[in-house]
Amino acid sequence: MRPFGTTIFSEMSALAIRTGAVNLGQGFPDTDGPPEMLAAAAEALAAGANQYPPLPGIPALRQAIVAHDQRFWGLTTDPDTEVVVTAGATEAIAATILALCEPGDEVVCFEPYYDSYAAAITLAGAVRRPVTLRPGPDGRYRFDEEALRAAFGPRTRLVLLNSPHNPTGKVFTPAELALIAELCREHRTYAVTDEVYEHLIFEGEHVPLASLPGMRERTLRISSAGKTFSCTGWKIGWATGPAELVSAVQRVKQFLTFVNAGPLQPAVAVALGLPDAYFTGFTARLKANRDRLVEGLTAAGLGVLPSEGTYFVTADIRPLGGTDGVAFCRELPDRCGVVAVPTQVFYDHQDAGRHLIRFAFCKRPEVIDEAVGRLKTLA
Ligand code: PMP
Ligand code: GLN
Repeated sequence: MRPFGTTIFSEMSALAIRTGAVNLGQGFPDTDGPPEMLAAAAEALAAGANQYPPLPGIPALRQAIVAHDQRFWGLTTDPDTEVVVTAGATEAIAATILALCEPGDEVVCFEPYYDSYAAAITLAGAVRRPVTLRPGPDGRYRFDEEALRAAFGPRTRLVLLNSPHNPTGKVFTPAELALIAELCREHRTYAVTDEVYEHLIFEGEHVPLASLPGMRERTLRISSAGKTFSCTGWKIGWATGPAELVSAVQRVKQFLTFVNAGPLQPAVAVALGLPDAYFTGFTARLKANRDRLVEGLTAAGLGVLPSEGTYFVTADIRPLGGTDGVAFCRELPDRCGVVAVPTQVFYDHQDAGRHLIRFAFCKRPEVIDEAVGRLKTLA
């Protein structure tokens, strides 16, 4: 694990604290989640829900996950056998890859990829087969169909798909999802979907890969409370899918953390059951933040690429004379008091992302405005 060093998120947040810069790097909100959820957590703490919860998660949370997935995505899941609650999506990803991959198995993924994917694949002794997302003429990130087809082979065990996608803000199109599903069926592989930004699509609708023909029986769907309910420090995630696969994940998960966040589990159950107005309000607020940041970054002279979802937008630094995103981000706090994240570190083929950096817009409007004002001094 030596090559993995310290995550870019930790490095950049430490840099923000050290320099007092505005932190648009690590993706965490600067406002709290729904008050009903916070009250339920306080109540559970005071009521003594402070011991180990059951290994798969408390029944109320598993039922709430199932009801949520039926309400929003039309997915039918058995709360007793097809759900496991995990320590964030991070543990669900690691436990899933460790459960499904033998040494030498291959994992098809899209780069740039969320950093824990590479680490989890390495921990399993598996091999990643990244397919590169590149901005097309309209700025939208795309992959080459032939490259995806070529990434599949006899050792392919699973495809790891994150949509809406961190760090690009890409939402995979119905045609792209159909192609991925076709290849999974043809090569008889599993799919693992990271859908932590399922409620952050600014145009169109979220479509879980599991809802495509022939995909339910081969897909483990992962999500988490952190993003949807602005509680990234709670680390409550989950994996859902066919009982046999969930059972395999649970077998690994019990030796990673066993269980976590007992008194917070009932609170996440409350949050998942909030009325539709919470979810639409949350999406609308983040969309307005995206628009605000995109406008500001454009005015500051960056080459802003479209973001269709998530907490993030990427930008090309070359219009401001930058060539290397890592160097640019390390200097940015001193140059103008802002922290961003270089996306180059999320690629195996680093040249594809050398000139790109990521900004988070899960921040209060006044914080976004302050960062933009500082960035404008760069031009
Ligand atoms: N996947 C993606 C794409 C993410 O951006 C993150 C960070 N929130 C995670 C997984 C990890 O989620 P959690 O904090 O629930 O472990
Ligand atoms: N998911 C968050 C991001 O992409 C960071 C999570 C972390 O720090 N590991 O910014």
